[in-house]
Parts: sequence; C-alpha cells; structure tokens
Amino acid sequence: MLHKTIFSTTLVVFIFAVSVASANDWRSGIPWETPPKVTPGAVLGAPPSDAIILFDGTDLSAWDGGAWAIENGELVTVLGEGDITSKQRFGSVQLHLEFFIPEGVVGSDQHRGNSGVFIGPYEVQIIDSYENVTYYDGMVASIYKQVPPLVNASRPPGEWQTYSIIFNRPELKVENERVYVVRPGYITVIHNGVLVVNRHELQGTTFFHRPPAYEAHGGGMLPIRLQNHASNAQRGTVLRFRNIWVREIPDTNVRPEPTRAPFYMGQ
Ligand code: MG
Repeated sequence: MLHKTIFSTTLVVFIFAVSVASANDWRSGIPWETPPKVTPGAVLGAPPSDAIILFDGTDLSAWDGGAWAIENGELVTVLGEGDITSKQRFGSVQLHLEFFIPEGVVGSDQHRGNSGVFIGPYEVQIIDSYENVTYYDGMVASIYKQVPPLVNASRPPGEWQTYSIIFNRPELKVENERVYVVRPGYITVIHNGVLVVNRHELQGTTFFHRPPAYEAHGGGMLPIRLQNHASNAQRGTVLRFRNIWVREIPDTNVRPEPTRAPFYMGQ
C-alpha cells in the first residue's frame, strides 16, 4: 500500500514535470528538411588589424559573469557557473569565434554540448550536430527556432570549429510600450568556412518558450554572450572557446550622394 502510494506520487510528479517542460518548449510547426552534410575545408581565423579582441588566450578581462577557466590559452566552461557577457556593447558586427565540443560528449537532442553565442537577445546555436539529431531550427548554426543552417558543416566532437557571423542590428522604435520595427536585423553565419545562414531576416528575440518577437533593447548597443548550458553541467560536459574577436561594421551599406556631376577621369 505504502509502495503503491510512493509509486503513484512519483508518477504524478514525473508527469507534471514532463508536461511543464513540454508546455514551455515552443516549436514553429514548420516541417524543415534535413540540412545536407558538407565536409568543411581548412579554416583560417586569425584576427585582422582592426579587430576588437574579446579573448586571445590570456584572460577574461573583456567579460563579466561566470568564473570560466583558462587552460592552454583556451576558455573553458566551468560546471555550475553561468554565462559570460562581453563588457563592451556593439552595434552591427562581424564576429569570429572558435568552439570545441569534447570527444566523448554524452546526451542527445538538445542535451549534447549545448551552448550558444548571443548577440543581444539573438542566438546562433552551438551544439553537437555531427551525429546528433534535434529539431533543425535548433541544431548547430541555426538561428534558434527561426531558421536551420542551409547545410550541416559540423566537425566531429574533439575538433575545433569556427563561426564567422555578420550581424546587422535592427532599428526598433518604441511608442506607447509597443515595439515597431523600423528596419529588421539580419544575420549571416559561416560555419567552418561554409556559408550556412545567408542574411536571415531576424523575426525577433530567439526565445525557447514562445514564438520570435522583437523586444526593445535600449539604444541598440548589444553585448555578446556565451551560454554555459545547464544540461552540460548535469552531464559533466565542458566546452572550450578560443580566438574570439569582433569588428564593428555599418548598420547598412552606406552610399553617399555624389558631390558633383558624374564625370570621366581626365575631362
Ligand atoms: Mg543554446
């Protein structure tokens, strides 16, 4: 009798936990097709002369947040510590980073080497998608719950991978607490040298629990954040990052008005 009560109480708690988890897990309902696999070539990612260095292997002075470790010039997540956020805020940027999911990573679906790089509230997903299937707009290099990568350019766990991200921030206007999109944001992602997201028009914040929608972000200057996902801590998975740099770029392509009539050289 006592056993039965404990069993049914456990079952009720379990069902409640499962239903709470699935109630929060918003999905678009779009039947994405499997992004084909592409084997990436060798990639160079050394910072150019005008880059702002966020991590060059020496220290965490450009970041606030979790007490991540530095080993052999690599930034290492520490189990139970939170995300780290750049002290400097940026407008539109070109962002480069390299990430490493360890060989022997365990878990499946969203629980396998999950991290993410956020520019403000917009996440480019980091996760092991080499032989791990999850919803496609939540796999590696997806704009989370907005669009999958065109192809799956994953390297296997135990190899370094690169992201080059081009982010054009949106221009938003708030009136009577409503957010109006003057100009949407755009994201381009090159994963291991392969173009995987081609100027995706952002639909808003990349939420876990609801459809994307734009939210006001004060002044439009945004920090860059690296996620230290709880599911890794539960499984003892430690991720590594290196060579993180940004370049500030114009929000849009600027083409000034001519200051004189068109002419041919020499006339
Ligand atoms: Mg993530």
